[in-house]
Order: sequence, then C-alpha cells, then structure tokens
Amino acid sequence: LSPSLFADRLADTDVSFEFFPPKSEAMETRLWAAIKTLEPLAPRFVSVTYGAGGSTRERTHNTVRRLIRETTLAPAAHLTCVDASREEIDAIVRDYRDSGVRHIVALRGDAPDPSKGYQPTPGGYANAAELVAGIRAIGDFEISVAAYPECHPESASLVADLDNLKRKVDAGATRAITQFFFEADQYFRYLDHVRSYGIDVEITPGILPVTNVKQLKRFADGCGASVPRWMADLFEGLDDLPQTRALVAATVAAEMCRRLQAGGVNSFHFYTLNRDELTYAICHMLGIRSSTHGTSQEKAG
Ligand code: FAD
Repeated sequence: LSPSLFADRLADTDVSFEFFPPKSEAMETRLWAAIKTLEPLAPRFVSVTYGAGGSTRERTHNTVRRLIRETTLAPAAHLTCVDASREEIDAIVRDYRDSGVRHIVALRGDAPDPSKGYQPTPGGYANAAELVAGIRAIGDFEISVAAYPECHPESASLVADLDNLKRKVDAGATRAITQFFFEADQYFRYLDHVRSYGIDVEITPGILPVTNVKQLKRFADGCGASVPRWMADLFEGLDDLPQTRALVAATVAAEMCRRLQAGGVNSFHFYTLNRDELTYAICHMLGIRSSTHGTSQEKAG
C-alpha cells in the first residue's frame, strides 16, 4: 500500500464494536472500561450479543439500557429466534422500541444442543428472515443480519446461502455483518457473489483480532469460518507470551483491514471480546482517532 492510498482512505472509514453481556461483576467492570475507552472513537453503533436460547436475555437488555443511559453510543441489540414464541420475541422488540433502541441484529441462533441440530421453536420465528419481517412489522428499526463469506455450515450450497441472505434483505434487513474471516480475498470473492445475486445492502466485514489460535480452532469450524495454516504457524511458540501474541494479533488484523480498505471497504465491525486494546490499536492504524488517548490498560498501568 502506498502511504498516499492509505491516507486517502482515512477520512471516510467508520467502525462498529460488538460486546457480549458480562456474567460477573469483574467482567462487567472490564466491559465498561473497554466501552469507555472505545467510546471516543465514535463508532457508528455498538452491538450487544444475545446468548444461546435467550440465556443472556436480561443481561443483554441491561447492557443495552446502560449504554443508552450512560453513553453517547447507539446500541444495536442482538436477538435470536431460539426457544421463544413470536409473542415473546415481539414483546422484546416493542420493549426495545419503547426504550429508544433503533437497531436490532436479527439472528436465527443455534440449537441449544448442537448434536441435535437446529429445530425451530413451535409458534416461534423459524429463521432470521422471518424474524426480520417480524421486527419490521413492529417498528422502523435499522436491522442488521449475519452473512457468511465461507457459507453457513448448514447451507447446502453457496447459492442456498445467497438465497437466504436475499430473503433476509427482502424482508427488510438494511445491512449484513459477516462472520469473521482471515483472508481479505474471501471477503472480496463473497462480495462479488452477493452483488451479482442482486443484493445491494452494505456487507460489513466482521473483524476478529485473534490472540489464541488454539481456542479459535475449537469453535471456528462450527461458525462457518476456517483458520488458515499460516495463522497457526504465526502463533507457534507464543503460548506463554501473551503480550507478544497481542502484538502479532493486532498486526495480522490491521494488515487484513488495510487490504480491505485498499479494496474500497470503509466500514469495519470488530468482535472486541469485551477488550479494548487490540481494537483500539487496529482502529488507530485505520485512521480512526479519539479525542482522549490511551487504552484502559495503559491508563491503569
Ligand atoms: P439464518 O440466516 O436463518 O440461516 C441459518 C441457516 O439456515 C443457513 O444455512 C440457511 O441457509 C438456512 N435456512 C434459513 N432459512 C431457510 C429456509 N427457509 N430454507 C432452507 N434453509 C434455510 N448467535 C447467537 O446466539 N447470539 C448472537 O448474538 C449472535 N450474533 C451473531 C452476529 C453475527 C454478525 C454473526 C455472523 C453470527 C451471530 N450469531 C449469534 C451466530 C448465529 O446465530 C449462527 O451463525 C446461526 O447458526 C445462524 O444464524 P443466522 O441468523 O445466520 O440464520
């Protein structure tokens, strides 16, 4: 990348951040330190995930409400179809609408017991496309959905996957956020397919800064994402060196983001895992600046 090409892209790049609802007081403290550090980067929105089977329902709501109360950030609440009737889900959506939430990330979710495969809940929304239509009927929300550069693991084919994304967009989704991936070309190839299929919403790449490849490998398969060999090789021998792993992680993710930027991408969604350091560093390299500098770790240290 030439420095001038990089500089040209700085002005129009924007970001969003994903958090998960904390399980304990210690995790809550860490999450809010991360939110406070990342807030001055002025993300377009910050999203809060929804646990399998609605297990985090209250915690997701509490985190979203606190974001509204205590920050300037625009929250996006994730919502899944798992283990809930349409009435229950509609009530949640109305509650969000009435508390000022304007953005929902609409997902099918996964089977509580993965060995049994996904079964729609009787009387519930069967999939994300149906959920999008249900949300659209309740309010004028921004609705994001999931997209899979390497196909969803349950998809019969790429065409079936694109069909499904199209159904979600036709039902009213305004953006798709991708599953994480580690090769910029995977994103560009997928984007070509999406566009040639007549899908024209923004496809925001989901960026996962990875510090632990072994952990990643354990869950990547089930998510429809592959871990390239070069990535495992890069982290070899670093098991006991967490700071070095973090430096490598930031470099790898920033490099991919800059390739995406050079190819015309100007929106990035970060899976922060409730940590600020890596996301902050990568954003900085993408030209995103905050008025108050420093991560929570640096400030604490
Ligand atoms: P869908 O788009 O409904 O599709 C799922 C599969 O079913 C696809 O293979 C599709 O082809 C197939 N399918 C759907 N409808 C039909 C049909 N009518 N006929 C035939 N096949 C069909 N999970 C959580 O539990 N909580 C979260 O907060 C969460 N956040 C996420 C955020 C992002 C950005 C992403 C990428 C994923 C997230 N997930 C989350 C994971 C997600 O729930 C799983 O990947 C799940 O397996 C699929 O959800 P979906 O919304 O993509 O499903």
